[in-house]
Amino acid sequence: MLPDQVSVLVAGGGASGFMAAIAAAEAGVADVHLLEATAEPLQKVRISGGGRCNVTHACWDPRALVVHYPRGNRALRGPFSRFATGDAVAWFDDHGLQLVEEADGRLFPRSNSSESVVATLRQAAQRAGVRVHTALALQQAHPIPAGFRCTLRAAADSPTKQHQLLCKRLVLATGGHPSGRHLAAALGHSIVTPVPSLFSLTLAEPSLRELAGVAMDPVDLRLTICGADGRSELHRQRGAVLITHQGLSGPALLRLTAFAARDLKQAGYRGELVVNWAAGLPPEQLDQQLDQLRQQQARRQLGSWRPWSSLSRRLWLHLLQASGIDPQGRWADLRRGQQQALLQALSASRYAVIGRGPFGEEFVTAGGVELGEINLATMESRCCPGLQIVGELLDVDGITGGFNFQHCWTSGWLAAQALAAATTLPGASI
Ligand SMILES: Cc1cc2nc3c(=O)[nH]c(=O)nc-3n(C[C@H](O)[C@H](O)[C@H](O)COP(=O)(O)OP(=O)(O)OC[C@H]3O[C@@H](n4cnc5c(N)ncnc54)[C@H](O)[C@@H]3O)c2cc1C
Repeated sequence: MLPDQVSVLVAGGGASGFMAAIAAAEAGVADVHLLEATAEPLQKVRISGGGRCNVTHACWDPRALVVHYPRGNRALRGPFSRFATGDAVAWFDDHGLQLVEEADGRLFPRSNSSESVVATLRQAAQRAGVRVHTALALQQAHPIPAGFRCTLRAAADSPTKQHQLLCKRLVLATGGHPSGRHLAAALGHSIVTPVPSLFSLTLAEPSLRELAGVAMDPVDLRLTICGADGRSELHRQRGAVLITHQGLSGPALLRLTAFAARDLKQAGYRGELVVNWAAGLPPEQLDQQLDQLRQQQARRQLGSWRPWSSLSRRLWLHLLQASGIDPQGRWADLRRGQQQALLQALSASRYAVIGRGPFGEEFVTAGGVELGEINLATMESRCCPGLQIVGELLDVDGITGGFNFQHCWTSGWLAAQALAAATTLPGASI
């Protein structure tokens, strides 16, 4: 049963709420209660990383780490200088969960199952004495001199629908759910309108779709988006891409859409994508390479001899055809004009973007509580003393690869330290 008065109320049983509640209780804060609106906390942790949970990323330097956050970026230097990737790895290790690094830097639990992350957090909460209340949502919170007067709403099948409660300190950790943004706005915060991030792109190129499943790495991407004011925005990325039935996806493309999330939304997900399939090769070098092939492989068929070995054969045939070149022709017969067309297709294929495709394995909201309104050393609101805001509810989001959870661990941990300091300082209020 939830009492009528508690010291600390954490609203939201996700990664950031659990970290805030556990770390606060472990740091000596008494009477910590965590509310979760649904019947099962940590649902996103459970489904994350395709059921494996990409807990964080092996990027140890806070200055390098912030670059992976399209929203947040430099402002996160301070928070990460106090609790970054290495601290998260050590924290989980101290709580019995070992993380293993994959070749691309992503860190997963050794068990390769998100269930072990959920179990670790739940056990840590229990051991620390955090009281977890499920199927109970924070509906309203009003600041009062002694803290907050809260209205909680129970799940539909509960006998008592509403519950009033006083808490001395309140932590909002409601993730991307609209209810948290409404609560934050009602408590005086500005909300940056949320838009989707980390999605693939739909391209108006039916013939490309026949290549679904082809992966290329590295590829250079240049996305031009024309805004409502007529200004063009250019976004670039380099890395691995995957051709899909709708267009393009893959890590570099998801990074591109994360950084371009707002511009794309404003432009109705329309723009022009220029793809350099030969990202490792400057165009002049590629041109020379084609010259050499004309001489050295003169008698071979164009379709059977690719300019470089990692160029997908299916894509090569597609690019030849898109350049109006017969793949059955011989290298010796490639005319100068055709070579120019081929060079263009290899290094600057142009595709019209006509929409937003499905999300990748991970998706987040770009937007939330304006960062300037939060003291990032304590996660306390500058508009509403005694209130702390953590996790995805803030206008912070990372690219795919474990960066979103890292921000949850960091912001939750920082909020906890500030709560602990408030209990031990002379004249402490809780
Ligand atoms: C499919 C998928 C896969 C992902 N994979 C990864 C990954 O591998 N690595 C990574 O870094 N990131 C991943 N992410 C992103 C990551 O899951 C989020 O960034 C992270 O979960 C945000 O944590 P949070 O605690 O801020 O919010 P959430 O995890 O959303 O938790 C908020 C909780 O608050 C509850 N709640 C909402 N409103 C109220 C209320 N009024 N009262 C009480 N409770 C409330 C919600 O029910 C929810 O349980 C993934 C996201 C998705 C959707």
